[in-house]
Amino acid sequence: MTESNFPQDERKANDSPFGEAESIPNYLDSTDLDEDIAAALENQIVGRPETPEAAGDPRTLYPGGSFEAQPQDYPGWTDAMRPRPDHGESTYIGHHRMEGFRTLITGADSGIGRAAAIAFAREGADVAFTYLPEEEQDAVHTVQLIEDAGRSALALPGDLCDEAFCQDVVSQTVAEFGGLNVLVNNAGYQMTTSEGIEDLTSEQFDRTFKSNVYALFWLTKAALPHLQPGSAIINVSSIQGYHPSPSLIDYAATKAAIINMTFSLAESLGPRGIRVNAVAPGPIWTPLQPPTQPSEKIVHFGEDTPLGRAGQPAELASSFVLLATAEASYMSGSVIGVTGGRHLA
Ligand code: NAD
Ligand code: MG
Repeated sequence: MTESNFPQDERKANDSPFGEAESIPNYLDSTDLDEDIAAALENQIVGRPETPEAAGDPRTLYPGGSFEAQPQDYPGWTDAMRPRPDHGESTYIGHHRMEGFRTLITGADSGIGRAAAIAFAREGADVAFTYLPEEEQDAVHTVQLIEDAGRSALALPGDLCDEAFCQDVVSQTVAEFGGLNVLVNNAGYQMTTSEGIEDLTSEQFDRTFKSNVYALFWLTKAALPHLQPGSAIINVSSIQGYHPSPSLIDYAATKAAIINMTFSLAESLGPRGIRVNAVAPGPIWTPLQPPTQPSEKIVHFGEDTPLGRAGQPAELASSFVLLATAEASYMSGSVIGVTGGRHLA
């Protein structure tokens, strides 16, 4: 029998519809199911629109089409963004889908990672996350959001280009939470070059690959001894992995590598009951963009998508929750595109 590190399995091992596979989170068997359903229905009634139209035209649901020029230094800070990104602070409603999960998200001080952290915490998960030391003010805010959801937060400052730090964040997460069920390799570095490859230095090439590919390799390797059947790894790729821009040669190559590694890791870890998937965002309004793109691109950021606007971090949260839970029990080696209508192919 496989030992599980999901606490809810210990509570309900004998009730598992999966027989021996108790490690699959069995939250639907909750003894307070009636209360859960009542709360969920209440939430749905409050949140449910009268008509599909009232759910929001996806073209106009969020601002976009044009933004103010707003240069800021790398790595970028949430408070300096106009408008402020929406991470789901006032909209994401949890439904106990990740009760007792222990999760680690890299780069969740801001942007897409923060939206995933809010969603995981409101679904019942404890959340450890990494950030760069200069991002302390964003990290403090993410800690507050996780704790406001009634869950434990563990904020881990450091540089993921350092293998020892990658190993350390996994050890610290396991020590603090007593295990690890979901690893989200979300942190990423990009910097546009105006002239293409002539402009691209070896230092930048190295930094981009270390931040985006080596860190994923080191973190995944460090996490593996702790991941039991039923656990999940979620990588963050990009539309750039499929449709590379000449000004992002190094970045796009790392995002293609992440897709490829998602496929090979899904093949190799499937027999161990560990699912590996990726999310591939299109243009999303986060602090990564203003410091790394020319102002003329920021002003029109996302305008060239079929939906005609940039996405918000909040619009990715449900993809992470799906891939983290047994609702996606037969999904592995998949890439979910959240691109505003541009195809992944
Ligand atoms: P973000 O700036 O809010 O988050 C990225 C985080 O990565 C930073 O907060 C930082 O903490 C972390 N990071 C970068 N280099 C690091 C390093 N060496 N060590 C430790 N941490 C480091 O931006 P985001 O857009 O939310 O980015 C999240 C992921 O989404 C990235 O992988 C990015 O490539 C990907 N992505 C973003 C977009 C977009 O348009 N915003 C599109 C496609 C993919
Ligand atoms: Mg940040």
